[in-house]
Amino acid sequence: MNPMNDSEKKKKIAAIKGTKDILPDEVGKWQRVEEAAAGIFQRYGYKEIRSPVFEATELYQKGTGETSDIVQKEMYTFIDKGGRSVTLRPEYTPSVARAIIEHSLHLKPEPLRFYFIGPMFRYDKPQKGRYRQFHQIDIEVFAEKDPAVDAEIVEMADRLLKELGVTGYEILVNSVGCPLCRPDYHVSLREKALESEQELCPDCRRKIYTNPLRIFDCKLDSCRAISLRFPKITEFLCDECETHFQRFCLYLGSFGIEYRIEPRLVRGLDYYTKTTFEFITKKLGAQDSILGGGRYDYMMQEFGGPDISGTGFAVGMERLLSVVPEKEKKEIFIYIAYIGEEAKIRAMMLARFLRSHGISCLLEYKDQGLKKQMGRASKLNATWTLIIGEEEVKKEKFQLKEMESGTQHEVTQEDVLALIQKQD
Ligand SMILES: [Zn+2]
Ligand SMILES: [Zn+2]
Repeated sequence: MNPMNDSEKKKKIAAIKGTKDILPDEVGKWQRVEEAAAGIFQRYGYKEIRSPVFEATELYQKGTGETSDIVQKEMYTFIDKGGRSVTLRPEYTPSVARAIIEHSLHLKPEPLRFYFIGPMFRYDKPQKGRYRQFHQIDIEVFAEKDPAVDAEIVEMADRLLKELGVTGYEILVNSVGCPLCRPDYHVSLREKALESEQELCPDCRRKIYTNPLRIFDCKLDSCRAISLRFPKITEFLCDECETHFQRFCLYLGSFGIEYRIEPRLVRGLDYYTKTTFEFITKKLGAQDSILGGGRYDYMMQEFGGPDISGTGFAVGMERLLSVVPEKEKKEIFIYIAYIGEEAKIRAMMLARFLRSHGISCLLEYKDQGLKKQMGRASKLNATWTLIIGEEEVKKEKFQLKEMESGTQHEVTQEDVLALIQKQD
């Protein structure tokens, strides 16, 4: 026998590093954001898609490009009991691409417009506000090449933020060109960067040779200042990309969306083409992105799929929640206080009646005195308390207390309904 000592017994199991509980008092805000997003996306013809949380590791090894390398280094990969290498999804797009190919969704009449809300996993260094399990809202459109769809998803994202009461954000847009026009830009960018090679940070010096576009991602002020002198990609766009970008801006304008062209807004992934955009806010301290998206016309082919274009955006849920204001209106709910067995049964019947009419009620079966129950009602922020004693059961009239004003009404079951529905 190997008895546990006291300290071993007391050792508590905590949540795994980089993960976080979303507790009941925060979850209301999560649900509000999720419902708003789902409601809006459906109005634009998007359907939800739910893919597995883990996939074959090869799926994430298919995408090329530097960002993808970073993702791969941070992947939650393990060998399962069947000896397969599986990975907890670090991003969502590969799963959608796989699902489209696997179920030939592109051959069906429905538009390829999908949305998704759920957790992602990356094994990077946990730091403040960043978790190894984090959550994203994501939308994807495939097989719609028109710049109007790029404008419409920006307008849809803007609607989401507005509906959630988010203010003080700015919309940045740019074009990253295509495989036809980007090589010339790379050459010119590299030439210009080499002129200032010694002033750039070691990381950026390396990027000159690997992917000069990514110098724009550097957070150092000195590198940012140098990159201001770099040529703009919009000056290198081929005719097709140029027209696409102009149309995109025109459509945004006709939606009444305010935006700013930011030539340094680029994405490192090779399969990104044409439109890119970002919603930024200064509310999170430093200027920070709350939503980012763009077009990826070559991604589907990278995954071995059909030659169809793609566009979409992703929102980091945790970051979005930090800029969504709290709801001002209190949730309406009735705390039902009762005294004695007969009143308890009447209370249960009443709760059933009210709940069937869509009203939230709470009864606690804890054999507590009336004073204790009244205390609970105010502690729990009940909007109303319904009091039922022996006398009330006999008269079929109950005491309904409005908690904020303290006003008390003598009411029938029907009166309760009328009073509360009037306030809601
Ligand atoms: Zn082009
Ligand atoms: Zn740098």
